[in-house]
Amino acid sequence: MKRYQDHEKILGERNSFSKTDPGATFMRMKEDYMKNGQLKPGYNVQISTNNQYIVNYSHHPNPTDYKTLPSHIDQFNKLYNGLPQAVVADAGYGSEENYTLLEKLGIDAYVKYNYFDKDQHKDKSKILIDLYYNAEQDCYYCQMGQKMKYIGTHIRETDNGFLAQYKNYQAIRCDGCPLRGSCNKQKGNRILAVNQNLAKCKSKATELLKSEKGIYYRSKRGVDVEPVFGNIKYNKGFRRFLLKGIDKTEIETGLLALAHNLAKRAK
Ligand code: SF4
Repeated sequence: MKRYQDHEKILGERNSFSKTDPGATFMRMKEDYMKNGQLKPGYNVQISTNNQYIVNYSHHPNPTDYKTLPSHIDQFNKLYNGLPQAVVADAGYGSEENYTLLEKLGIDAYVKYNYFDKDQHKDKSKILIDLYYNAEQDCYYCQMGQKMKYIGTHIRETDNGFLAQYKNYQAIRCDGCPLRGSCNKQKGNRILAVNQNLAKCKSKATELLKSEKGIYYRSKRGVDVEPVFGNIKYNKGFRRFLLKGIDKTEIETGLLALAHNLAKRAK
């Protein structure tokens, strides 16, 4: 029992840890020599760059990128006593929580969400609009013109403690509707759960990403941060940490960042 309690203490919020480096968590790596998706102990290393200079770096015990953004931004603020005007990031960071945080901090979020690219290539003429929202009455109308009334709100808490709010709307009578089979697979009348804040965040992100500045930033992201990873991992051959523990591995990343920036400056 004591051993399990000790393990739980080491685990904290994580679901695994390495016995040889308790600070490291088992994650899926790009290098998969065994070709079996084997998990390996590691740290999720986040860097932010400006014109290929590393301006901030942080290590995280969780493999999911979107969860790392709030503390990474917080660290940036502590380092520079100020926030960046804009953040450019890929779809791995596009969560409601991150959009809401960046808006609160007054930072323009040039951050894609999942399916952003897919949405851009959709044939708009083939999209079947099956729901119409009436903002005045706060209700939806389905394809058959039936009113879907607001029936309440439920809250979902993310792993990070963010509370996402979903408004529920329900059709009055789906029985006998010719679209019953394709439209409503639920047992009773169709219930729709809408996260209006997320929809607002996505539409704001789309507007920014499709603006002139957004297109420029999107094209720049691939030649700003990615070559830095390429330089460190491929040119310099840094594939694994020499030390153990989050504090010591962060020092290694710090030294790498210094070396990278100095070499770039010298050139
Ligand atoms: S199944 Fe219900 S929600 Fe769907 S179209 Fe018919 S009446 Fe409307």
